[in-house]
Amino acid sequence: MSSTIASCVLLKGRPTLVKIETVQTRGIPRYTIHGMSAKNQQTLSHKLKTALRVLKFPTPSGAITTQISPPLEGLSTSTCQSLELALAASIVSIKNYSCIPKTTLCIGMTTLEGSIQSPPHIFALAVHAAKSGYTQLLVPESDAQDIATASRLPCLGIHSLSQLTPHTFSQIKQYVPQQQNLTSQKNPTFFHTFQNQPSALRAITLAVAGRHNLILIGPPGNGKTLATHVADELQPPVSSQEVQDVIVLNSLTRNSLETSPPRPFISPPHTSTITQMLGSKNGTIGWLQQAQHGILFLDETPHFSPAVLTHLLDPLETKKVSHPVRYNSNSITIAAYNPCPCGYSGFPEKACTCSEAEKNRYTKKITHAFKERFQLQVMVAPVSSTQLRSQKVSQESFSKLTKTIQRVRNNSAHLEQNHTAQHLLSKAHDRLCLSIRQHQAIIRVAETIAKIEESDMITADHIAEALQFRIQ
Ligand SMILES: [Zn+2]
Repeated sequence: MSSTIASCVLLKGRPTLVKIETVQTRGIPRYTIHGMSAKNQQTLSHKLKTALRVLKFPTPSGAITTQISPPLEGLSTSTCQSLELALAASIVSIKNYSCIPKTTLCIGMTTLEGSIQSPPHIFALAVHAAKSGYTQLLVPESDAQDIATASRLPCLGIHSLSQLTPHTFSQIKQYVPQQQNLTSQKNPTFFHTFQNQPSALRAITLAVAGRHNLILIGPPGNGKTLATHVADELQPPVSSQEVQDVIVLNSLTRNSLETSPPRPFISPPHTSTITQMLGSKNGTIGWLQQAQHGILFLDETPHFSPAVLTHLLDPLETKKVSHPVRYNSNSITIAAYNPCPCGYSGFPEKACTCSEAEKNRYTKKITHAFKERFQLQVMVAPVSSTQLRSQKVSQESFSKLTKTIQRVRNNSAHLEQNHTAQHLLSKAHDRLCLSIRQHQAIIRVAETIAKIEESDMITADHIAEALQFRIQ
């Protein structure tokens, strides 16, 4: 007699499918699990035997051997917990209780009394199962509705191991995925504070609409941070294609059970290490991956370690980090810093007190190579407390702008430059000694401007505006 049950576990930070095969043979009654450490084996077999005994389950006689594949030798005891429901089901199924369909995957942990609870990161495990072809999940009833919605799979909600008999199993309630509420429009809280900084607001709009990386330069104060919050407000609601990525990341990093999460806004601390920023093969999810589909804000960029900034060059250019969770091209990176150590070079609020040497040392921290990973640069003035208080914002202009941004994002067409645009760009190229990256950035930004203006070609006006925001 044998049974096979599918489950899912977090292995080195990645959700991994697991096959659990249990066989019954004649011999001295005992329960053995192969494919995990001796400590985990002991903990799990004790728990399962106790739970099944408490529930007075007719456990099979003879020697019971369970094989877990792939082997999970290095797994912590807490990570193994997601397999407990499947292990119990596999033992119970031998005694002709083969009630769990082959296309159903089980995720759940059990108490010593046999009640079923959610293990950590259950959303990430459920979404992975859904993407791997399973058509139904058996999960803890307490979270079954949310798991169904997050994974878009029907879920059977089980609350006790006692429901694993054929009679009770058929009565388990099925939860179907619900529509996620993804259309809610944010109310602008900071948008009005940039009404009198049209150039900064335009750069932010272009960054959000075209998913361009943006450099904000300005004196100390709240201007740069507020500008980043405006960018966050202007982002369209997370789409139905993007939402599962965000759910998985939230589940892995914060163990969150939110089915309609907002776009991520990640502001890493200056002390972040390379691993914390980029993630690692043994399971750490970096800030960069966490910002997927949202904003990564590098506030006071020169305070980050030069090594971290150097390691960001490649992912900012290719927009790819593969481990442990793939990060793709949909996030926007915003870097913000002062123009000089005192912060007032080029601004009228205060006279700059820095020497040329001090200025040079400061600006050298942001290398040319780093700046070239950005497509837009703009100066941001501080926002006064009166501006912050005046709530005189036109909801209409905000809604109009967010609609435009959504329209541009949905437009994946590639626009050509007309003749005068080409001429202006080649003149600017020679006069400003643009690098290839800068040249490409200007075309990309000009294309976003053209789409905002609903033009079907990139014109000289679009190139001219893009040049104003070029990286310097
Ligand atoms: Zn200064």
